[in-house]
Amino acid sequence: MQKISYSNVETTCIYCGAGCGLNVQVLDDKVIGVLPAPSHPVSQGQLCIKGWRAADFVNHPERLRTPLIKVGNKFVESSWDEALDLVSARLAETAQAQGPDSLAFLASAKCGNEENYLLQKMARAVVGTNNVDHCARL
Ligand code: SF4
Repeated sequence: MQKISYSNVETTCIYCGAGCGLNVQVLDDKVIGVLPAPSHPVSQGQLCIKGWRAADFVNHPERLRTPLIKVGNKFVESSWDEALDLVSARLAETAQAQGPDSLAFLASAKCGNEENYLLQKMARAVVGTNNVDHCARL
């Protein structure tokens, strides 16, 4: 039997704030699995069921790989620049027409602390609303 040689990339699980350590197994630039990082200070070689399945989405055929913009009743693939320009323009239009508190920003436990920090910063400092919440509170 031929031995498969893959590399491990140590990272942090994204599914909750516990911050368990993962070794992502990579073969030919493709993620093929996940194992617990044995000496990680938080998880010490353990993962919950979500951590064990952390990489299942990476190669899933239905994974979204590009932004989608709704045109009429259809979603159309777009570039990131196009999608972000549209979101930015719509946020500005809404804030100007109806006031900043007509908007709300919902953060996600699937994002890291840094992304969630930036989202609330954008809401408060750029848009001018304190309407910020997080899915973990729902
Ligand atoms: S392995 Fe489970 S407990 Fe650990 S960070 Fe991931 S989701 Fe949270």
